[in-house]
Amino acid sequence: TIVARQLYKSFGSHEVLRGIDLSVKAGEISCIIGPSGSGKSTLLRCVNGLETVDRGVLRVNGEDFGYVEKGNAYHAVRPQRLAEQRARIGMVFQQFNLFPNMTAEDNVMSGPVLVKKISRKVAREQAQKLLAQVGLAGCGHKYPAQLSGGQQQRVAIARALAMEPSIMLFDEPTSALDPELVGEVLAVMRDLAHHGMTMLVVTHEMGFARDVADEVLFMDGGVAVERGDAREVLANPREKRTQEFLERVL
Ligand code: ATP
Ligand code: MG
Repeated sequence: TIVARQLYKSFGSHEVLRGIDLSVKAGEISCIIGPSGSGKSTLLRCVNGLETVDRGVLRVNGEDFGYVEKGNAYHAVRPQRLAEQRARIGMVFQQFNLFPNMTAEDNVMSGPVLVKKISRKVAREQAQKLLAQVGLAGCGHKYPAQLSGGQQQRVAIARALAMEPSIMLFDEPTSALDPELVGEVLAVMRDLAHHGMTMLVVTHEMGFARDVADEVLFMDGGVAVERGDAREVLANPREKRTQEFLERVL
């Protein structure tokens, strides 16, 4: 689960998140939509600890994320604790971010071996299973450069899953792909959703949001303009800014 209440984040004098509320329950899928620069990636980066928030409540898996409250002050958690919290969150980026000098299999098993100290043999077996799960059985020996963008992104998803996260974050996972490769990545994400993964997904794929998401959050200028049932928001947006955005992208 993710709970955010009144999150604020600035870079210098630029307020990028201005009081964001968010709630993703276990097994739910939330999609974040909105124009470029609205703060979507920043929100995701806060949720997995790549950025710290300035103000507000951020609770992940039932505990305060990145800080502890003592009296009425915030204290950053120990780096070790933050690492433990972050290990339970998988993240997939627009650029696949695979290690180019490692095979697909080695990419997938690197986290479990290095962070979880799992034996290479067991980690390799797990990696093979995960690659099969994302439709890449038999591709484990290939290097990223030998794979299509869609295949690379599926390896990236398998690599995130290898850490056995309870939450998966996706930041425009199909935006860098040729149109004909988008479907295979969305299919893997749909499959994950159907298997009960908790997911927070920044996307421009409105069809995916409509079919898969429980909730949609429309952000503009660092503000959560509209949040609600996915089909409701996409079909009958209440806010003018949401209407205008959807008219432009649909
Ligand atoms: P896009 O759809 O283009 O990915 P976004 O909604 O993900 O946009 P963010 O990347 O969160 O938007 O950026 C929101 C704003 O914050 C932008 O104006 C961006 O320039 C600014 N910003 C993001 N990261 C930083 C940073 N590390 N330092 C300074 N400004 C930043
Ligand atoms: Mg972004």
